[in-house]
Amino acid sequence: MAICIPPFYIGQEIIAIKNHSQGFFKKGDEFIVTGIIKTCCSFSVSVGITATTDEGQCMRCGAIYKLNSESLFNSHCFAPKIETDNFISMKEFTLKQLEYIGAN
Ligand SMILES: [Zn+2]
Repeated sequence: MAICIPPFYIGQEIIAIKNHSQGFFKKGDEFIVTGIIKTCCSFSVSVGITATTDEGQCMRCGAIYKLNSESLFNSHCFAPKIETDNFISMKEFTLKQLEYIGAN
């Protein structure tokens, strides 16, 4: 199995980039990472949402793993919030460039 670096760190502000299949969060919801765990096939994060069961299941291979008190979610459901801010400022920058071109 390839070694990979956790996509987030504990305490990081993240934003949901998709709706959760069971409605635990919606795209655009913001969270703070409370834990990050390497499960069998991917990284899972907890974001302060209380678990409704005491076991989680890997979406890819079906392996069962124990939950403590918080639900775990696939890290692919989230993006760092700071990158979203950077993206917005890049867009603003581009718009300013367009204004400049337009003025000439
Ligand atoms: Zn798996």
